Amino acid sequence: MYSSANETSKVPALDTAAADARRQVARTDVLLADPRLAEAEHRLGRSVTKAAVAAAQRRVRAGEVAPEMIMDAALAALPPLTAALRPVINATGVLVHTNLGRAPLSAAARAAVFAAGGTVDVELDLLSGTRARRGRSAIDALCQAAAPAQAAHVVNNGAAALALAATALAAGQEIVISKGELVEIGDGFRLPDLLTSTGARLREVGTTNRTELADYRAAVGPETAFVLKIHSSNFRITGFTRSVGVAELAGLGAPVVADIGSGLLTPEPAIPDEPDAATTLRAGAALVTASGDKLLGGPQAGLILGRAELVGQLARHPLARALRVDKLTLAALEATIRGPVSPVTTSLRMDSRDLYARALRLVDELRRAGIEAQPLKTEAVVGGGGAPGVTLPSAGVSVPGTYAFALRTGDPAVLGRTQAGRYVLDLRAVPESDDAALAGAVRAAAAGAVMR
Ligand SMILES: *Cc1c(COP(=O)(O)O)cnc(C)c1O
Repeated sequence: MYSSANETSKVPALDTAAADARRQVARTDVLLADPRLAEAEHRLGRSVTKAAVAAAQRRVRAGEVAPEMIMDAALAALPPLTAALRPVINATGVLVHTNLGRAPLSAAARAAVFAAGGTVDVELDLLSGTRARRGRSAIDALCQAAAPAQAAHVVNNGAAALALAATALAAGQEIVISKGELVEIGDGFRLPDLLTSTGARLREVGTTNRTELADYRAAVGPETAFVLKIHSSNFRITGFTRSVGVAELAGLGAPVVADIGSGLLTPEPAIPDEPDAATTLRAGAALVTASGDKLLGGPQAGLILGRAELVGQLARHPLARALRVDKLTLAALEATIRGPVSPVTTSLRMDSRDLYARALRLVDELRRAGIEAQPLKTEAVVGGGGAPGVTLPSAGVSVPGTYAFALRTGDPAVLGRTQAGRYVLDLRAVPESDDAALAGAVRAAAAGAVMR
């Protein structure tokens, strides 16, 4: 097919073979006209396709690829998707892993995101043909799921929910908060800094380990906009401690805003100590704020639930427009709430005996492929998303530590944890439907580890 380049070629002398290969490099326009690359261009765009062609041409010039193999090299250089984010099997035993994008979406939520990628009725009532409230059905789903909530609003993330509450309700006024709840949420971000950046003042009460109702009572006054209760979602204070619950705080007269962090809408039996929106509202919180992509198992979002007049005040504040979520988030959130149990919840509720049975099956399969694999009992954790200090009995497969690099850089990538020279693949955060892909990745890594 690329004979125009070959026609001019003579039988090369050995020392000029490389130079001759350079002259035989098929031209970009000729290559791009091939139907296979035309299809790739349609799917991935011109610049990505041209980059693959250029990479193949370079390899031919360098003598790494035979001139007649240039099309195969170009096709092999095409990425599967235009975005660089690569799928990773989460075998870390950390259910909500920040570095892996927190909660994986359910199949229903992914389908909803895909459908919402087109033009959709996000702000339109198709029956009347008039404008409608943005995200109304996701908001209805939230209110129904967290029953005592009169109203709900959705913003970009949990931090945005808190920033909006502080800005709309407390700018120029005081937020009363326990010293034991001045939390850093990660990567150097501290909630006290976020709160004061809105123009609110913090009135800190109590001490790091003990705060009494009387401490709050002494601080609440005409300057108080609200009392803030922040859940310790990534640490635990144990020993000589005392903190005050929402129900007691609600009796002080000022509105109570509770940042529950994890996003559970109702109690989760697998982690009974983790707060949830419905229970917190029933206890008397005026507003609850939370993340959408931790234990709720949905997209990155900030949830605000509670009294209608306060939610309305937040939703109408000018800052709300800067924190608005897109149609993809609204679609994924609604499908997560209304649809089948999310992957995070499935992982939470998995019986450790079933996990061990899966580990045994995997080990069996890997050993048949000549791989030195061992089943083992492990401990998984919820992660940055909540339930600090709680461990969930789990099971996994340990493979030689030398596989770690090949697993991490394979396709799909697999992230486990290194333990005493072995690489441990914990199954609690791995959907059972990924077991075959996980086994395949280990087999590929075993082959790669030998080659290295
Ligand atoms: C995670 C968390 C936040 C921040 O939520 P993002 O969705 O990460 O912005 C705030 N407060 C608490 C208690 C949290 O656990």
